[in-house]
Amino acid sequence: MAIERTLSILKPDATRRNLTGAINQRFEEKGLRIVAQKRIHLSRREAGLFYEVHKERPFFDELVEYMVSGPIVVQVLEGDNAVANNREIMGATDPSKADAGTIRKDFAVSIGENSVHGSDSLENAKREIDFFFSESEIVG
Ligand code: ADP
Ligand code: MG
Repeated sequence: MAIERTLSILKPDATRRNLTGAINQRFEEKGLRIVAQKRIHLSRREAGLFYEVHKERPFFDELVEYMVSGPIVVQVLEGDNAVANNREIMGATDPSKADAGTIRKDFAVSIGENSVHGSDSLENAKREIDFFFSESEIVG
């Protein structure tokens, strides 16, 4: 398996409930290394740009409002098969459909406030990592 990097976000519902450490433990237990991390508060413009692919979806405005409702933690996770591995650790978008033991099953509030974001392909991971981090901020 190849070593990959993926972009992860601990969303406002997670930071609000002080779950940063509990969620990071899930990544580290499953072999993902946090090679970059920062806590930020997105502007509406930034949130809209990040989620541009969802612009036409009915939940877009709700998603942007939620993502600017509090601080988030953006991170780069590195490890074997990191993109797919992280999606597995996160669980399904809708927590009621997520497998037992996944982050979303255990922590998410709803389909919208679902605690974490993870890139869905290697190509999107590169774009999303570049959106938040310069190369010098990523220390593997
Ligand atoms: P994922 O985060 O699992 O890749 P999507 O890319 O489909 O899921 O959606 C991006 C984010 O938009 C979700 O994580 C969630 O926060 C929000 N979202 C998705 N579907 C809905 C929905 N039906 N209602 C409200 N928010 C949603
Ligand atoms: Mg997605």
